[in-house]
Amino acid sequence: MPADSTTKSAYETFLSAACERLGYSDTIASLLTLAAMEIKVEIPIVRDNGELAIFTGYRVQHQNARGPCKGGLRYHPQVDLDEVRGLASLMTMKTALVNIPLGGGKGGITCDPKALSLRELETLTRKFVKRIHREIGPNSDIMAPDMGSNARVMGWIHSEYSAIYGHSPAAVTGKPVSLGGSAGRETATGDGIGMVIREYARHRNLALDGMTAVIQGFGNVGINTARALQRLGIRVTAISDSRSAVYRAEGIDLDALIQRKRERGSLAEAPEHEEIEPAALLETKCDFAVPAALENAITEKNAGRISARAVVEGANGPLTCEADRMLRERGIDVVPDILANAGGVIVSYFEWIQNLQREVWPVERVESELDRIIGNAAREVFIHAREKGLDMRSAAFDIAVARVKEALDATGF
Ligand code: NAD
Repeated sequence: MPADSTTKSAYETFLSAACERLGYSDTIASLLTLAAMEIKVEIPIVRDNGELAIFTGYRVQHQNARGPCKGGLRYHPQVDLDEVRGLASLMTMKTALVNIPLGGGKGGITCDPKALSLRELETLTRKFVKRIHREIGPNSDIMAPDMGSNARVMGWIHSEYSAIYGHSPAAVTGKPVSLGGSAGRETATGDGIGMVIREYARHRNLALDGMTAVIQGFGNVGINTARALQRLGIRVTAISDSRSAVYRAEGIDLDALIQRKRERGSLAEAPEHEEIEPAALLETKCDFAVPAALENAITEKNAGRISARAVVEGANGPLTCEADRMLRERGIDVVPDILANAGGVIVSYFEWIQNLQREVWPVERVESELDRIIGNAAREVFIHAREKGLDMRSAAFDIAVARVKEALDATGF
């Protein structure tokens, strides 16, 4: 969702607009805005050099009327309470929009995971769980990977939590498959973005074959989106990581770039690819621009130069409110984050179900269920937008807010 000074303030803007359209009171808008619980902990660890360092960790549980809180754990130097709050509330809207029985939560530790050794990262993660274990669990709050964390980190969380409560795989998702992780979780967000773009094309009567896309971000979401779009016949002409961006008119060679990144730690000077200015990547002429890295990738400074047919929000909150308005006025569709990148939480939900029921689903079942759930949500948003004359984000918010409100009403106050 658009993020101005903080993701939360933009969330409030869109939420209150949705509440107004739906005729809800200010009290209901406040109830949907405020987090149910906010946790902040200090985590001291001994670094490899023998020195003591203190990190700050957060977990925000925004809403659980529709089910246990669900959301990622972010490891990044810019993590703070405001960011985590905004992202937690976004998760409430995301789980409601795709209609899975979960609420919204988010967590983070303010750290640079690249500057920590594996031992330091493991110690930090385990200590974080020791601090907050009473507040998380399969029926209350289920963590998952986000920027800077991954399946390995989720494995440590699983191990630490299970050491206290006994074997509890459903307490965390995005785990390695050997620990009860789901087939298809690693690629789920990118796969989901591909499915949403396919539905978008159907809705707009477009043939995908031969269309072009550019992607900002070369992590889990960026890489798996690139693969999913290539499978649809879309030519991904440019992609970037935090330091460099590359372009290839006939389409990037994804495997070669992955290898290059593994060997050199960067996409720079990749053979047969032209290096372009990272800041200009999203302005490259294309059909779909997919910001899949950080917040605020598109602001009022560059929104006027975006020349895509549609911006598809792979990251959470990659547009500021002002950029969102500018793109709307220019007739550029914005497919909102709460729909576009919901594939990750949907397959996390499948992982949770499998763990609770001691089942193991084949990847084909994961993929077809993901397609069914995210495909239904996308069609619902696009049809609602058309019928009500709304942009896609407002339509998505109206559906999600109404669903959370209905659950709150049903629980009684
Ligand atoms: P990741 O850590 O795997 O990758 C992030 C990528 O962004 C890396 O390639 C990094 O180099 C790049 N990056 C960092 N700073 C950048 C900058 N200033 N400019 C350009 N690129 C930059 O993270 P991820 O899991 O791919 O998550 C990316 C975004 O997608 C986040 O907003 C996250 O909240 C959202 N998201 C992730 C998932 C998931 O399943 N992983 C699900 C939903 C939403």
